[in-house]
Amino acid sequence: MTDTPLKLFNSLTRELEEFIPVHPGEARVYSCGPTVYNYQHIGNMRAYVFADTLGRTLRWKGYKLTHVVNITDVGHLTSDADEGEDKMERMAAKEGKSAWDIARFYQDDFERDLGRLNVQPKQHPRATEYVEAMIAWGTKIAPEHCYELDSGLYFDVSTVADYGRLARAVTEEGAEESRGRIDTVEGKRNAADFAIWRKTPAGETRQMEWDSPWGKGAPGWHLECSVMGEKLLGFPFDIHTGGIDHREIHHPNEIAQNQAFCGCGGLDEATHSGAKIWMHNNFLVERSGKMSKSSGEFLRLQLLVDKGYHPLAYRMMCLQAHYRSELEFSWEGLGAALTRLKRIERAYSRLLDQFEEKHSNESLPYPRYREYTVEEQLTHFGLLNIARQFSFALSDDLNTPEAIKFFEEALRAKRVPLDEQITLVRSMRYALGLPRLTPERFRLSPTGAMIRPSKVNEALKERKLAKEQGDYQFADQIREALEAVGVEVMDGDPLGWEWKL
Ligand code: AMP
Ligand code: ZN
Repeated sequence: MTDTPLKLFNSLTRELEEFIPVHPGEARVYSCGPTVYNYQHIGNMRAYVFADTLGRTLRWKGYKLTHVVNITDVGHLTSDADEGEDKMERMAAKEGKSAWDIARFYQDDFERDLGRLNVQPKQHPRATEYVEAMIAWGTKIAPEHCYELDSGLYFDVSTVADYGRLARAVTEEGAEESRGRIDTVEGKRNAADFAIWRKTPAGETRQMEWDSPWGKGAPGWHLECSVMGEKLLGFPFDIHTGGIDHREIHHPNEIAQNQAFCGCGGLDEATHSGAKIWMHNNFLVERSGKMSKSSGEFLRLQLLVDKGYHPLAYRMMCLQAHYRSELEFSWEGLGAALTRLKRIERAYSRLLDQFEEKHSNESLPYPRYREYTVEEQLTHFGLLNIARQFSFALSDDLNTPEAIKFFEEALRAKRVPLDEQITLVRSMRYALGLPRLTPERFRLSPTGAMIRPSKVNEALKERKLAKEQGDYQFADQIREALEAVGVEVMDGDPLGWEWKL
């Protein structure tokens, strides 16, 4: 493990804290996952890029990582505070499909987007697979902490100490504010009480419903995360993450359930919450409202791809901002991130070319993450220094904007041992989740593209040959033919890109 201690901002204490694992050498992380009733927008994806950056940093620091991102395929209502319809059932009715099919379809799409953003594989438990465990949980906490109404089994938030501390809703002002957002259900004891089981109304049938001691129905959304976290990671685990909206309702409710389950006291002792550290990424915002899933063309990763931006340009855009800052989306910003990525690729190709020139028969040096820290694999003082600063930036509450600068510095370094430089750069790429992109992999075929990249390359080879033979007329014809199918030929592009769609 590297020498710089990892410091993370704990939303529960509102302080920067040193990461000290519950189980030595291990890190166990739970990140609230998507509700799979629709495509994810790129704001949602920011939450998973953040979670992945956290996971990669923990790995860079040498911890063995267990990371869970759940799939909410039942129970999330149109309002976070247990009002409205079930998002899954509503979409199923709208699309005329079964809720199960809807869930499967959007989970697949979500996982494809994760892959395109180079998010490392994680465990993706589905809520519907844990209903039995949720009923067992409910049965355990109900006698002391819950009460039944016609609509379901409700958690009485006054039965646990420090309810709402995470949201800082304990102030009068905060309480007022949350009352405004929480719709009242007839008979609730406290405005903030929430359903852990929602009964199917008499005379109705839901597509997703189970028998329980409280009647046929479905589990509440907050219960899912408590149960999957406990089952897969054990209490207390190390870190729980989610978007900043979850700091207000979802996570305080999870915490209350966890306290009830453990029979724990107040939250001065953070582990009573179920996790040691609670982390929240700030939002990606967009002025014209294209982030809302109810607007027609909302900002999905696929839309970026369709416009010719590689998904990793979006990852880069996220990394350029600190996860706790709001990030404003703009196409210009995305374009700038793409250009930065291209520059990085250009510098990296040069390094590889140099290596090949010198050591034509050797394979590239590969960082040995498991046996040694990156720093132990470096002898050159300049490189070691850059590695330390990079590590320091990541350890400072995942300061990725700074870390990228040191990554670029490592790429630029001159008169340093090439094998060490490549080792360092490759390990930094791994930590940031920015894999190598050759122009072939970088370039995209937007949906609606009229020509395949291989065909473009063939045509350009022919054009080059024509030029070499002095047949400029034919060369121009090829260019025009390409333009007619939407290919822009970029002669002399400083970044080495010959064409784009
Ligand atoms: P949901 O599917 O609504 O439960 O959201 C999935 C994740 O995305 C949660 O962690 C949310 O907090 C997060 N999230 C939602 N909107 C945004 C946004 N605009 N920017 C960043 N994260 C978001
Ligand atoms: Zn959750």
